[in-house]
Amino acid sequence: MATRHLLVTGGAGFIGANYVLYWLANNPEDKVVVLDALTYAGNRESLASVENNPNFTFAHGDICDTALVESLLKEHDVDTLVHFAAESHVDRSITGPDAFIETNIIGTYSLLKAAKKVWIDEPKANGKAPLKHRFHHVSTDEVYGELGPNDPAFTEETAYAPNSPYSASKAASDHLVRAYHHTYGLEVTTSNCSNNYGPYHFPEKLIPLIITNILHDKPLPVYGNGQQIRDWLYVEDHARGIELVLNKGRLGENYNIGGHNEWANIDIVKLVCKLLNEQFQKKPELAAQYPEAKTALDNKAEQLITFVEDRAGHDWRYAIDATKTNNELGYKPVESFETGIRKNIEWYLANEGWWKPLIEVNKKVK
Ligand code: NAD
Repeated sequence: MATRHLLVTGGAGFIGANYVLYWLANNPEDKVVVLDALTYAGNRESLASVENNPNFTFAHGDICDTALVESLLKEHDVDTLVHFAAESHVDRSITGPDAFIETNIIGTYSLLKAAKKVWIDEPKANGKAPLKHRFHHVSTDEVYGELGPNDPAFTEETAYAPNSPYSASKAASDHLVRAYHHTYGLEVTTSNCSNNYGPYHFPEKLIPLIITNILHDKPLPVYGNGQQIRDWLYVEDHARGIELVLNKGRLGENYNIGGHNEWANIDIVKLVCKLLNEQFQKKPELAAQYPEAKTALDNKAEQLITFVEDRAGHDWRYAIDATKTNNELGYKPVESFETGIRKNIEWYLANEGWWKPLIEVNKKVK
């Protein structure tokens, strides 16, 4: 594969950072520029291990700043834009949708505008062919709406029916990306992925929230009756899927990425409780490191579970059918949930220095 010059938006966020680490480890000749506004969800610490890599550059800025995006595309000879930057927390989209409209819709439009100008319009004005390029848009399964218990999982043919301001803003951005391909010939691909878990996940999201609350002996809030179902994928398997779409995906297509791994929220919470209880029983040194975690130390973390009022408009079930991605691109997740969730818990136990300051950040932005 020829070397690439990537612009990764939102590369200091959860999935973006994991993607950058994965990409530089597996494509060491490539150059990666991260553009990130460092909102509450962005954290340069997640990129600490590549900060000194000569093929890595960090640019602090907003995707809505079209002139900045244009100059980065030119200055770094970018041929591949991978777009993760977004407001991503559904609860925040319910209490304050403005930022979601601004970043997820206007921000995506700004990137498309800059990409079209630099890669297609300017060469054309000089009598040249478009520059070699790819615009990859990272999206979510939430754009498809919700499933009932017996519905088949979402395929790429499922009609969009977003229910939250978050998923509606992502759906709008997916449509803009599609339109830029159809109307202007911009070379785009889009991937729609299920719920991710893994390292560097901000502690407002379910799995890291449960882990860090257990470590502080705080209640574990579970919406409604906890029976909502989500389909979980290890974050590196998402990065691997995007790599395949970039290398082998057809232009203008959407690819679903998922691992056939549906769990009710309450069962995930109980599993995390059980695994953390086990860690505390197996490793006595954890008691000194996490003296507040009294209930888990007593092997009873489940007692912290607290049912809270359900989220407004809460989607009941999401599930991804990734047959197209499996068959066409040879995609297959590598990490089993059994090993991935253990690895994830061990990562949080070993990386208190990364997540502890974020508990305060989370309180401030709430
Ligand atoms: P995240 O909230 O952890 O990170 C988002 C990043 O974008 C942060 O670093 C933030 O600083 C940056 N950002 C926000 N607004 C910006 C702006 N205006 N300009 C530049 N940077 C900005 O999100 P995530 O969970 O890593 O999700 C990344 C992408 O993947 C999103 O597009 C999301 O919709 C999609 N996705 C997420 C999941 C999931 O389970 N988390 C699943 C499927 C798809």
